[in-house]
Amino acid sequence: MEEELYNKYSRQIFFQPIGIEGQKRLSRGYALVIGCGATGSASAGMLARAGVGRLRIVDRDFLEETNLQRHSLFNEEDLKTGLPKATLAEKNLGRINSAIKVEGIVADVNSSNIEALAAGADVILDGTDNFETRFLINDYAVKTRTPWVYGACIGSQGMLMNIVPGETPCLRCLLETSPPAGTIPTCETAGILGPTAQLIGSIQATEAIKILTGCSESLIKDLVRVDTWTWTLQRLDLSNARPDKCPVCRLGRYDALHARSGVMTTTLCGRNAVQIVPPNGSKIELKELASQLNKLSGPSGPSELSDVTCNPYLLRFKLRRKGIDITVFPDGRAIIQGTKEPSLAKDLYSKYIGM
Ligand SMILES: [Zn+2]
Repeated sequence: MEEELYNKYSRQIFFQPIGIEGQKRLSRGYALVIGCGATGSASAGMLARAGVGRLRIVDRDFLEETNLQRHSLFNEEDLKTGLPKATLAEKNLGRINSAIKVEGIVADVNSSNIEALAAGADVILDGTDNFETRFLINDYAVKTRTPWVYGACIGSQGMLMNIVPGETPCLRCLLETSPPAGTIPTCETAGILGPTAQLIGSIQATEAIKILTGCSESLIKDLVRVDTWTWTLQRLDLSNARPDKCPVCRLGRYDALHARSGVMTTTLCGRNAVQIVPPNGSKIELKELASQLNKLSGPSGPSELSDVTCNPYLLRFKLRRKGIDITVFPDGRAIIQGTKEPSLAKDLYSKYIGM
């Protein structure tokens, strides 16, 4: 065992704070990366290389051409497959390090599934692009006393914070509610630099390695903000930022975790798209749906939809006149691309997929 670890990770083992004991702990560790975009790609890639024993990647989306500018786990060949990011991440991470256990799970993390998806994780890395999911991660993490590493990027700016339940402020200590939609810039309005996201993902991976090797005393304790273009670095001292009335970490109220809703719609960050998540337990036979949709798309006559393609992971089709692309996953979730209108998206969902 030790010899194998030395063969693979000697340069990391020679780094004194880790050593052979730290490397053994890493190989028994379990890290969960939620969201496999730019930061999630970077952190997952580094954790796989570092030899974290078990790595689970959860992502709800499929790979697009505009992702390749900053998603370091993927390439043009991956794009051609039309597969979801989580499926591709599992394949690519397994190629980086075959000695660890990698799982890619295609799912939208929500209140109904986070406990099952995150159970047993030693650390959670935030690779998401929205506060809805972050508050959910925060609730779960505080409730189960699982450390998590918040990270966010926009333009050339990145932000990062460790949340160690019981010791540091939680996300809800700093933010009472999610910023209202439309009030914070998105990747679509402000753009995003690949290297900035890579930097934040790398620091997140470093913090996760500290946690997994038992070096928590070295964790960054401040909220860190960095701008890689103007090169400004701010550190916000959080030592007095834990209000007595924080509903999550002081009062133990987990509103995000207990929220149960019917159909959920989310406008996706940086995309002209809306995601529809039907209530729990929906299941769609993609092949069957594809054959129904094909009837509407025939080669003759003015058909309203076209380009129906289907694989075991997703089904995709286009609505010609509306300029809309629809992707459907086996759990009933769909991404309606070409609109930001939740009502139109719901409408199209019920029209073509049904609910
Ligand atoms: Zn709190």
